Amino acid sequence: MYDVLIIGLGAAGYTAAIYTARYKLKTFIVGAEDGGMGLTAAEVGNWPGIIDIKGPDLMENFKKHAVSFEEVTLKIARVTQLEKTGNHFTMTLQSGEKIEGKTIILATGSKKRHLGVKGEEEFSGKGVTYCATCDAFFYRGKDVAVIGGGDSAVEGAAIAAQVAKKVYLIHRRKEFRAEPYWVDRVKARDNVVFVLERNLAEIRGEGKVTGITLDKEFEGSKDIKLDGVFIEIGSDPSAELANQLGCALDKKGFISVKPNQESGVPGVFAAGDNTNESNYFAQFTTAAGEGAVAANGVFNHLQTVGSKGGYMSGG
Ligand code: NAP
Repeated sequence: MYDVLIIGLGAAGYTAAIYTARYKLKTFIVGAEDGGMGLTAAEVGNWPGIIDIKGPDLMENFKKHAVSFEEVTLKIARVTQLEKTGNHFTMTLQSGEKIEGKTIILATGSKKRHLGVKGEEEFSGKGVTYCATCDAFFYRGKDVAVIGGGDSAVEGAAIAAQVAKKVYLIHRRKEFRAEPYWVDRVKARDNVVFVLERNLAEIRGEGKVTGITLDKEFEGSKDIKLDGVFIEIGSDPSAELANQLGCALDKKGFISVKPNQESGVPGVFAAGDNTNESNYFAQFTTAAGEGAVAANGVFNHLQTVGSKGGYMSGG
């Protein structure tokens, strides 16, 4: 029996594991995608103490730190089911393996939104992808489009512009919600074309993407010939496992948590991009902060419940 089962291998999950280990709690951390959304950050310039680091390198450091504790067991696997069994929780992995824990931290992050336009599904993986910073490298010397106006889109356009011939940054409004740092970075590139107040209507191709059609004309035509489309229109929280446990979600689908990151279900905590905390500001720093608070919440919870004789000892 583990003291805590942490689900999610991103900034929130690994930070939680570092803290639960230092609280001397027997910790099992698991996830299907090692590194989480952190892998999509080509350049991280806002992790305090490190001026510039690549997202995958930062996540590798998080992992090394977490597994340096003997209290931490790490497994790369998909969790298919979570249930409360008596006074503890049982987690089932895709392999059928079952693991038991006294508490849970859901650090399951979020998943990228799809646009739902014609051709998107057909050309997914054939020129349509959902991570400009991960995939831009494959479009060296080609023309691509990035859709969206947040940090993911504008950072993605800046990174894509380093390798692509031309980058169309297509946004439905005039203003960007991205950090001005990234907006300035794309404005400084002469191969980024701003296509504002336009929406993508269709992605066209033959076997692979060959072009797009906009909802309104741009420079005399609705059609643009290009080779790749990066859809970066935000993410939705991953809350399937929270639903299985009966955790309350807010109107936007994020897990509602108390100041100690505990969900409405005693013993179940949540941290990172899947919660309604930190003003929905999805950053490495906020995810790590929530992970630390959740670990502290678990520690306090176990002390309180343990002092009432609530858990079987050992395991
Ligand atoms: P986001 O901030 O939610 O922005 C999504 C963008 O897509 C918005 O500009 C939105 O337009 C547009 N959009 C949404 N639905 C659309 C639709 N159906 N059609 C056309 N456009 C649509 O998402 P994000 O950029 O992925 O960022 C998510 C979180 O991760 C944020 O908290 C962000 O700060 C963080 N993040 C940070 C960094 C960084 O610090 N470097 C990098 C990546 C992500 P409107 O503006 O009109 O709403």
